[in-house]
Amino acid sequence: MKNSFFANTELIGLIGHPIKHSYSPFIQNYALERMGVDAIYLAFDVPTENLKNAINSITALGLKGLNVTLPHKEKIIKFLDELSEEASIIGAVNTVVNDHGKLIGYNTDANGILETLLPYKDAITGTKVAVVGAGGSARAVIYTLLRYFRPEEVNIINRTQQRADTLMNYFSLKMRYDSFHTYDLFPPDNLEILSNSKLIINATTIGMFPDVEDSITDLEESFNEDQIVFDLVYNPTKTNFLKMAERQGANVVGGLKMLIAQAAKSFELWTGAEMPVNEISQQLEKNIADVSRQ
Ligand code: NAP
Repeated sequence: MKNSFFANTELIGLIGHPIKHSYSPFIQNYALERMGVDAIYLAFDVPTENLKNAINSITALGLKGLNVTLPHKEKIIKFLDELSEEASIIGAVNTVVNDHGKLIGYNTDANGILETLLPYKDAITGTKVAVVGAGGSARAVIYTLLRYFRPEEVNIINRTQQRADTLMNYFSLKMRYDSFHTYDLFPPDNLEILSNSKLIINATTIGMFPDVEDSITDLEESFNEDQIVFDLVYNPTKTNFLKMAERQGANVVGGLKMLIAQAAKSFELWTGAEMPVNEISQQLEKNIADVSRQ
C-alpha cells in the first residue's frame, strides 16, 4: 500500500465510536491507491460529545468528506447543509461530501442493500419479507425494499417493539405503504413469521464479533430452501444465523457484499472514480483470513 503522502494529499475520514474493528480503511485506501487518487482515508474515534467539533473540522481542515458509522448516523443530520433524497427519507447518513464548504449527506447503505439483493429481485417482489431490527440500517433496508422491491408485506421484528412501531408509522406516511406488521423479538412467536417470509434480513448487531454465538433465532424450522436470508453483519463473514439458514437449504448472503457496495458508492461520490469491487472483495477476504489466522 502507498506509503508516501505530500502537501497536496487529501484526507477522507471515518467517524464512529468505537471504530477499531472497521474494514473501511482497508477498502478505501486500497481503492485510492489502485485508482491513483492522491488521498488517504483515516478512522477517527469520535464520541457523541465531540460530534459537532468533528463536523466543524471537515470544513476547517478541508477534508474531502467522511464516512459516518455507529452511533452518529442519525445525529449527524442536524449539522449538515443538505441531504440527498434517500438520506432524507431514510433519516440516516453514512457519507458526507464536502462540496466547496457545503456539507451534503448521503446514505450509500441503501445502495449496498440494493446491489446485494438485486440478483433476487424477481423472487422478492410481491412477497412477504421479515426485517429484524429497527435501528439506522433497518431504516435503509425498509427504504430500499419499498422503493425497489415493493413486497406484499413487511414484518418488522425488534427487541424494542415500540421502535419497530415508530419505523412502521414513519414509512407508512413517508412512502405510502400500508402493509406493515410489527413484532417483539421473541422466537416462538416469530417462527411462523420467519418461516412464511421469502426474504429474512438481520439488521441488528446480534451475532456480531465478539458475540458470535448469538442469533436472532435458535429455531432451525424458521428456514427453508425457498428463502433468501441476508445478514448485514459482516464480522464474522458467515454468522451462526446464516449457518443455520444454510443448513436448511436457504440462499444465504453475508454483509461483506453490502459493505463493499456501499463503500464503492461513497468512493464514487468523493472521487468520481469507480472502485474495482471484485478485486477489493478478494483482497478483503484474504486480509480477513490472514488476520483470523494470527
Ligand atoms: P443500530 O442503529 O444501533 O441498531 C441496532 C439494532 O440491533 C436495534 O434494532 C437493536 O434493538 C438491536 N439490538 C442490539 N443489541 C441487541 C440485543 N442484544 N438483542 C436484541 N436486539 C439487539 O445499528 P445499525 O446501524 O442499524 O447496525 C446494525 C448492524 O448492521 C450492525 O451489525 C452493523 O455492523 C451492520 N451494518 C452492516 C453494514 C454493511 O455494509 N454490511 C452497513 C451498516 C450496518 P433495540 O431497538 O431494541 O435496541
